[in-house]
Amino acid sequence: MSTQDNTCLHDPFDRGHLWHPYTSTIDPLPTYMVESASGVRLRLADGREIIDGMSSWWCMIHGYNHPRINRAAVAQMEKMSHVMFGGLTHRPAVELGQMLLEVAPPSMNNIFYADSGSVAVEVAMKMAVQASIARSGDHRKTNFATIRSGYHGDTWNAMSVCDPVTGMHGAFGPALPVRYFAAAPMVKPWEPWDDADFLPLEQLVMEKKDELAAVILEPIVQGAGGMRFYHPEYLRRARRLCDEAGIYLIFDEIATGFWRTGRMFAWEHAGVEPDIMCIGKGLTAGYLTMSAVLTTREVADTISGGEAGVMMHGPTFMANPLACAIAIESLKLLQGQDMAARVAHLEEVMRESLAPAALLPQVAEVRVLGSIGVVEMKDPVDLGEFQKRCVDRGIWVRPFGRNVYIMPPYVISDDDLRYLAEQTIECIR
Ligand code: PMP
Repeated sequence: MSTQDNTCLHDPFDRGHLWHPYTSTIDPLPTYMVESASGVRLRLADGREIIDGMSSWWCMIHGYNHPRINRAAVAQMEKMSHVMFGGLTHRPAVELGQMLLEVAPPSMNNIFYADSGSVAVEVAMKMAVQASIARSGDHRKTNFATIRSGYHGDTWNAMSVCDPVTGMHGAFGPALPVRYFAAAPMVKPWEPWDDADFLPLEQLVMEKKDELAAVILEPIVQGAGGMRFYHPEYLRRARRLCDEAGIYLIFDEIATGFWRTGRMFAWEHAGVEPDIMCIGKGLTAGYLTMSAVLTTREVADTISGGEAGVMMHGPTFMANPLACAIAIESLKLLQGQDMAARVAHLEEVMRESLAPAALLPQVAEVRVLGSIGVVEMKDPVDLGEFQKRCVDRGIWVRPFGRNVYIMPPYVISDDDLRYLAEQTIECIR
């Protein structure tokens, strides 16, 4: 590759001045310049096209540059891109809210629109604390329990409930609030249930319940904390436990929502509803940052009946109309297809085409659920080297730790998906 090509692909200003996620300024990994994107393909500055196996960190569910979402965005922009939500409202917020309640767990009644996944987790935790104090009159009931290997975001409280070893606890030490962690579930969704799997959380919650506002969990799939899948019975037990202990249950569906696990939301695998639920990522089909926190009338009214009398959060870009209009169109696209069948098909193709990876000596396990395919390695992956190999082979895959995974946009063709899986295996090889 010529120097000129290299400069167009790896920008020196970017390298010298722009921070990328979890990146060193002294020794940043190379970044690849993207000119445009369409369907499942990213077009790089040197003219090459690569298949996006990440859905841009799991949000680009309908693919890039979708004509219907583009049109919805332009139409909304011509009316108004934004208006404050304090004291004002608008049709996109109302219509999106109605659509969300139609697909959400039946007990959900109140919606708080927030800015990003992490902020949704902050809002959910604030809701749980406000409601817990208001319900019990006990100011000690403000802490959280969760399971290891979780990931809930990068803001302060979200970080505090991420896995304490693979998360950011080490970097922030005593600056982070101390939460309670139970061992991560071990029984996989396709294995027979074992009561012993739930004991650690049960013991922890019963011991600490006087201090707890809520348990927070990513249902069925633990994403960025380890790409782990666990049994739906665990969630049913968690629901019963939280009711017995008099604490709330929060489901973080930011990664699992919008059909990623083969259901609209992952709670459906277990049939138990949370008290508070966070959604994001696929909500706006990868176009804009927006999330939402849904809760029951009981939680909402308990907060409103508490000392503050209001929910204490209200960001500038709350219910951004442009993001709402995009989310509405994305939901219509999902509703216009048999998504259960679509994701089941992706799962089948992925399972078949990733299977050969299990034979490689460097691979610990291959697992597939919905449109998530994971190849867990025995050792951590060299990210820079792996990404270079991927780009050279026409795919975009970004592993973390020991996990190489693919999570393509739902519109991917069978040929592209097979190619993505085959080339991922080649890069591992
Ligand atoms: N919760 C979960 C389960 C996530 O996977 C993520 C993002 N990977 C977040 C929260 C945080 O979302 P955001 O990056 O939009 O802040």
